[in-house]
Amino acid sequence: LVKNGSSSLKAKIDTSLLTETLATSLKEVPKPEDLVFGQVMTDHMLILSYAPESGWSAPEIKPYGPLSLDPSSSCFQYCPNVFEGMKAYIGPDGKPRLFRPELNMVRMEKSAERVALPPFDTTALLKLIKRLVAVDARWIPRSKGCSLYIRPTIIGTRAALGVAASNHALLYVIMSPTGPYFRTPSGISLLGVNEHVRSWPGGTGGYKLGLNYAPCFHPQRLAAEKGYQQVLWLIGENVTEAGAMNFFVVVKRDDGDLDIVTPPLDGTILPGVTRASVLSLLSAHPTQTSLPNLSNKTRLYTHERPITMTELAAWSAAGRLLECFVVGTAVVVTPVSRIGWQDRDIVLPEHKAVMGPVTAALYERLVDIQEGRVEWQGWSAT
Ligand code: PMP
Repeated sequence: LVKNGSSSLKAKIDTSLLTETLATSLKEVPKPEDLVFGQVMTDHMLILSYAPESGWSAPEIKPYGPLSLDPSSSCFQYCPNVFEGMKAYIGPDGKPRLFRPELNMVRMEKSAERVALPPFDTTALLKLIKRLVAVDARWIPRSKGCSLYIRPTIIGTRAALGVAASNHALLYVIMSPTGPYFRTPSGISLLGVNEHVRSWPGGTGGYKLGLNYAPCFHPQRLAAEKGYQQVLWLIGENVTEAGAMNFFVVVKRDDGDLDIVTPPLDGTILPGVTRASVLSLLSAHPTQTSLPNLSNKTRLYTHERPITMTELAAWSAAGRLLECFVVGTAVVVTPVSRIGWQDRDIVLPEHKAVMGPVTAALYERLVDIQEGRVEWQGWSAT
């Protein structure tokens, strides 16, 4: 866990020092049908700060509110900013549960290291996040497909303009109740884009850093003007990911079985928790009935390998491109209906039940596991 004595000291977060100041007036919780992703924050936040002399401060849970920061703080200039996205659900036992949060903590630790932010004790932070979720548990929506989105964030707060790593930091966690991310049940549209790129070999696309997202807003706006909901990020002809989601296709094989293909973790795409979970569920089918809604006779072969636009178009032309879907914490598993490329559309087959069978089976099973109706490898724990 910890590489040496001095970094262990630096990473230490003392959860026994946690102080809690509860809000005196509580906000009204929106109805599940009115939820728009990330718009309303809960009553409380968790916050702690880092200074090189003293390490991490005593953690505080306090009423949600503004931060006061020196305008020269490095987060405003050089963007040493890291964040995570994870979700809490209420299980059938009435208790809050989190979906594979250790994976988010490990990813956050790696992201922080990539921009030279101070290390932190991931186990202690997860304990504090669970406490924050318990404090604001009334905010976790009870309806299927709704949950409480948790946004842990670390920003560099070194108050100086010299171009250097930030040796001061603020770590805070805020939360927002959420419903379905996209309200397009028939699937979302993607536009393949390579004149702007989100990531490149040796770059930071594989980390969850704020600086990866701002440059995507202009190309995203251009795609929206052309009538597409999200950008399919390409490097040359190679698909990386779509918007802030990982990308999958279902291709019919000559023997009638299915290949499920997603681009590899080569550093240009974010290693998604949902991506890893989907690959694991697919590999377990049919031997462990990971996808009970899908015929046990269908064999699914998962492949983490490059996908090119020429291949996508050829599979589509040959009638072999059966389904395409994107995955992520916010979107869970969402079908794709068409992909714009070189002034034409690759149109995915329409399905009676809106989602294709593989997409639907994965969506249903993941949500059942996340919401605690199905126990699967300890993925959703209180
Ligand atoms: N790619 C990017 C760029 C993302 O921001 C996200 C959301 N974290 C994902 C993929 C999906 O990752 P996860 O399944 O961990 O939410």
